[in-house]
Amino acid sequence: MKVSQNSIAHGVTLLHDPLRNKGTAFTEVERDALGLRGLLPPHIHTQDEQMERFLHNMRNLSDPLEKFMALSALHDRNEALFFRVVCDNVDEIMPLIYTPTVGLACQRFGHIFQRPRGMFISINDRGRIADILRNWPHKAGIIVVTDGERILGLGDQGANGMGIPVGKLSLYTACAGVDPAICLPVTLDMGTNNETLLADPYYVGLRRHRVTGPAYDELIDEFINAALEVFPDVIIQFEDFANHNAFRLLERYRNKICTFNDDIQGTASVALAGVFSALRVKDTKLVDEKFLFLGAGEAATGIADLIVASMVAQGVDQEVARQRCWLVDSKGLVVKSREGLAAQKLPYAHDHPPVTDFLSALNTLKPTGIIGVAAVGGTFTPEVLRAMADLNERPIVFALSNPTSKAECTAEQAYAGTDGRALFASGSPFLPLQYKGKTMVPRQGNNSYIFPGVGLGAIACGATRVTDEMFLAAAQTLADHVTPADLEQGSLFPPLSNTREVSAQIAVAVAEVAFERGLASKSRPEDMLSLVRAHVYDPHYPAYI
Ligand code: NAD
Repeated sequence: MKVSQNSIAHGVTLLHDPLRNKGTAFTEVERDALGLRGLLPPHIHTQDEQMERFLHNMRNLSDPLEKFMALSALHDRNEALFFRVVCDNVDEIMPLIYTPTVGLACQRFGHIFQRPRGMFISINDRGRIADILRNWPHKAGIIVVTDGERILGLGDQGANGMGIPVGKLSLYTACAGVDPAICLPVTLDMGTNNETLLADPYYVGLRRHRVTGPAYDELIDEFINAALEVFPDVIIQFEDFANHNAFRLLERYRNKICTFNDDIQGTASVALAGVFSALRVKDTKLVDEKFLFLGAGEAATGIADLIVASMVAQGVDQEVARQRCWLVDSKGLVVKSREGLAAQKLPYAHDHPPVTDFLSALNTLKPTGIIGVAAVGGTFTPEVLRAMADLNERPIVFALSNPTSKAECTAEQAYAGTDGRALFASGSPFLPLQYKGKTMVPRQGNNSYIFPGVGLGAIACGATRVTDEMFLAAAQTLADHVTPADLEQGSLFPPLSNTREVSAQIAVAVAEVAFERGLASKSRPEDMLSLVRAHVYDPHYPAYI
């Protein structure tokens, strides 16, 4: 690809533009034409050589947080090289730019802060958010926004939560090829109730407790309206909001604008894909399974809702489908007689005597699958795993809580506790391991299999809404990419290195749904895959001259 010389800056401005900078890879001709002569050392490196140098230096660092910082610095000075590094080494780099390292990076955000990325909008900005968004130098096509209140399983990180939208948007580009120029990370600083942060002199956010009630809602509303005013076609992804806001905001906006909540819907889709893989191993149907969730928040009810939607799409009565999903929260089994249950739990509040703990609920309900999403580490104890192994020939065990310290069990514990019979998936990555002479390759039920492709598909067709049907289609497409060889080694997902191809196919499936339902603003192409591929960013350097 050749880029018009007139469209790019010259000289130092070009070197300081991360979207255009090539560093020492600028050619002789480019150096002359673009006013770079003398601003760079004489030797010209290829992008491959630059990548090798970066990887060599990064691999010499022992601390994941230092590696995160090296990657952030590269991201800030040369986006194409950053995305080459990520795309060509996805298994190694993804845990550094996303979970688990991003959790630590958020906790230490103020201490390791070097330069801002994305936009910070605070409760003090009421009345001028559209003007502030106009300060962004590009036309945003996708915004990932957080208020920092529930960062991974780490709770309230306030404005330090910015690491999450930045990381998620990096994955949009790395996993699906969404153009980084249209990606806008946003943190809404509503204050924080994290006293440690409030007392930390290096904290980057407002020194105040969280705003709640109408003032909170009004800021969100102003932000949404301002975003649509400044970037009319933008997709807005809500990320890591606490569940008392996440469900409400999703309900308020999902039928009005092009938006989704990845913690609820993206999680649901990836987990359902893992379940589809498990069904292939077990040779059962979804309706044959009974799931017991540990946790009843965004992830749990999101997954349960999509499991139910999938059963309903297969012709199962909705009430029968709901009976296949049971939730345990911090107060015990969610049952009908419990008072004051949050709205999202009500479909799963079945007729049953109260049960106070997970193991008792498991022994009473005899599930075929357990799904851990409570962000409490170690809760799939040897007793829990043993009970599942006694009840099931192939128990489904998903320990999805993040980061790794919050995982319900490790892969090793899951296999050891079930005589190697568990159909296991995790939220954070676990390395391949040997179990009784067999190599097991547990894979992550990582949302990054889903949301980048969903976003790419929505961008490609100009989707006006993001629907649950699209997430169902995404789950099926992802599951279709799991090979018999994957299943044989215990992998319920394809390798992450395949993610760009899978994302393109998910984008096609999402766009198909959009066209089918009249939710696409572009005209239907003859070849959907070509339409999708036309929107894919290539991190190899273009020629400027
Ligand atoms: P949430 O705050 O919405 O929900 C947490 C739930 O856990 C609540 O229902 C709470 O009552 C329950 N809980 C807390 N302590 C408990 C206990 N001791 N026993 C039983 N239940 C308890 O959070 P969420 O968005 O649902 O996320 C939960 C976890 O799942 C986080 O660690 C998150 O990182 C992880 N997650 C993983 C993925 C993935 O791997 N793909 C995706 C989304 C979320």
